[in-house]
Amino acid sequence: MSTLNKICVFCGSSDGNDGQITQAAITLGDVFVARDITLVYGAAKIGVMGTIAKTMLDNKGNVIGIIPQFLKKKEVVHLGLTELITTKNMHERKLKMQEVSDGFIALPGGFGTLEELFEIITWLQLGLHAKPIGLLNVNGFYDDLLQMLETMVKKGFVSMENYELLLVDTSVEKLLDKMESFKTPQIPKWLKPERT
Ligand code: AMP
Repeated sequence: MSTLNKICVFCGSSDGNDGQITQAAITLGDVFVARDITLVYGAAKIGVMGTIAKTMLDNKGNVIGIIPQFLKKKEVVHLGLTELITTKNMHERKLKMQEVSDGFIALPGGFGTLEELFEIITWLQLGLHAKPIGLLNVNGFYDDLLQMLETMVKKGFVSMENYELLLVDTSVEKLLDKMESFKTPQIPKWLKPERT
């Protein structure tokens, strides 16, 4: 049983071409079901997104999809979810994802995945939420990005405290364990994080 009841997953709307990523998506779905964690995600039935949702639904897991009206085309939207929430636009979708989730995990993906990951880290940095954020680094997919983050620290654009807000692991189980023991960080006094 997890203290994180609902976790939002950001990941590719494509499958990519590394089988280890599809396998990691299946493992994540299985672990969520085993730990009784509800998946919150972008409601697509395609790509890595679709793989996680299918894995969970096949095993009687709970899946909440949040999708903006304009993406709700029948080729992409998953109509067999536990709950489907439709939003007016992308901004409302991200706010809703933040509000309903107890934590966030990014798997490999493209621009959409990175945009969602960095927005949710920025909101944590600003104290708009105080929820754990994990990066699942499957088969070295995020090695270059992590290198870039180190460069941002070295060049003085990201503090070490904020760099450490992003929890990273190669194993779903270990990442979830890190997220469960996440403590609201010590941050400058002009920031006031609150768990919502
Ligand atoms: P990307 O990493 O560029 O493939 O984008 C994936 C992210 O963007 C997901 O986490 C979704 O929230 C969103 N997204 C992209 N394409 C779709 C789609 N066809 N249906 C629903 N959400 C999508």
